[in-house]
Amino acid sequence: MRRSDPNRVTLAQLQRRSSRTSEDVDEGATPTLRDLAEALSFSPDDGRIWLGDQRMVLWRSSTFGSLRAELIARLGQEQARSLLTRVGYAAGARDAELVRRTWPDSDPVNAFHAGPQMHKLGGIVRPEAIAFEFDIARGSFHAEFWWHDSSEDDEHIAAFGIGTEPACWMQTGYASGYASAFMGKFIVYREIECRATGAGACRLVGRPADEWEDPELDQHYFAPELSAAGIRRSLAEPAIAASARSRSLAPAARSEQQSALVGISSSFSAARHLIERVAPTPATVLFSGPSGAGKELFAQTLHAISPRAAAPFVAVNCAAIPDTLIEAELFGVERGAFTGASSSRAGRFERAQGGTLFLDEIASLSFFAQGKLLRALQERRIERVGGSREIAVDVRVVAATNVDLRTEVRAGRFREDLFFRLNVFPIALPPLKERRDDIPLLMEAFLRRYGEQYGRRVAGFTPRAVQALLQYDFPGNVRELQNLIERGVIMAGPDEPIDVVHLFRGGEMGAPHGLSPGPDGRLTEQVAGVASRAPRTQVGEPDAELYRDALVAARYNVSAAARALGLTRAQMSYRLGRLGLI
Ligand code: ZN
Repeated sequence: MRRSDPNRVTLAQLQRRSSRTSEDVDEGATPTLRDLAEALSFSPDDGRIWLGDQRMVLWRSSTFGSLRAELIARLGQEQARSLLTRVGYAAGARDAELVRRTWPDSDPVNAFHAGPQMHKLGGIVRPEAIAFEFDIARGSFHAEFWWHDSSEDDEHIAAFGIGTEPACWMQTGYASGYASAFMGKFIVYREIECRATGAGACRLVGRPADEWEDPELDQHYFAPELSAAGIRRSLAEPAIAASARSRSLAPAARSEQQSALVGISSSFSAARHLIERVAPTPATVLFSGPSGAGKELFAQTLHAISPRAAAPFVAVNCAAIPDTLIEAELFGVERGAFTGASSSRAGRFERAQGGTLFLDEIASLSFFAQGKLLRALQERRIERVGGSREIAVDVRVVAATNVDLRTEVRAGRFREDLFFRLNVFPIALPPLKERRDDIPLLMEAFLRRYGEQYGRRVAGFTPRAVQALLQYDFPGNVRELQNLIERGVIMAGPDEPIDVVHLFRGGEMGAPHGLSPGPDGRLTEQVAGVASRAPRTQVGEPDAELYRDALVAARYNVSAAARALGLTRAQMSYRLGRLGLI
């Protein structure tokens, strides 16, 4: 095949170019090891070290070794490994974000290669690529590395000698986090050989989480299960996290819950740990966090892993029910209590008998309804509206709020006594922008869910779409991400990766792609309206050959050529114009 002749390049061949391998790494292209090193700056006068805009610290490998040894002694090997894996994951995901932000125009293969380089720059380990190949648009990934002279192994061996298990836990987490944030999909590395088990060097293999034969193995470390001994039984199927497992789940209702409760970030893990602790008790739980952060899903999961799992879970959105009706809704009504009450009916409290009552947006309850609720919580008895007999209720109340209840109390809008009744076990759920490490996992989980739901095979996202999603601020939190991906699955054509235009379509984002001066004064392309962290693609030195090939292969149909490259027509025209090709 004469690949040098642009006339011979077909669209299919061009599309295949989106698959990149270790052989494409150009050591001279950005970001080089030197570029990465230049991002590191020491500012000794004010006691700071920076990597880009992230503060770093320089500490002894042996300090890490002592911390690690103490974690193992305190928590046991499994828990310590899980913790270090997740901490490493977060570091890797953040480095991927840093590379993406600092060198938005770098070729994907070099951007990926920067991960191992950062590891090396940090003095942590010296990775050597055996081979890797990935295709972001198709979601395929395979990588193998040698790791030489791992610092984590040095510390492990110094403390525990040679053993039977690999020991580069934080480093494996780092590689997984970097690759996941790079791909927009959960990638899991495993250490197949390790110096801590007597091998000469460590060998790492990375694949999409669901392509490993026994995904539970990794789930164990990356997203430890809700594992309290007593609740394992009730957990036989239900509500745990980790997309790795979702493939084996058929029932739609369940996977709905399961695939939404996905995460690996420290704040997410902390919230999960808390529901695990409180689930076996009857204690009242108060979730706080912005809308769309997943409060109801957490509440459902709490119910599913509690001893009440077999009884009903009843949810009430207090803001959605008018003041005049809330009392009847919660406590039920006796016939003739008021005009229109033509028959007696049970309220939500009674319907949740033996189970869990979830009261969302609790702050919107009227002062009067708050008093009735307080009484029900104190006495464990309710009275229907217009009734005279008391009904005993055995209900666990889980409340949620997206406003600060203490502020409401101070403002005189919320009863202090009720606040203290509810605030027995508070759990805060952070906004999605504060748990960005979870975005790739959520993207993958929603892509799978809506792909199945709509019967569409959507392999993945374009690199630009991954970049946009990982940098967007998500004012609507997980729910907004979920909506965007549902929309993307609907909009993308058959076997076409989801692109920015499929995602950010609504008025809320504005039409993508205008040009504006970037911080360095150069014109940069950006998705209009995508908040402060708008993804920016610098129009740097585009690969003229690539555009020309695409244009020729598409017989000078600019739209078709743009599609082949995953660009909008406007972008394509702009670039072709710049290159003098049209
Ligand atoms: Zn190792």
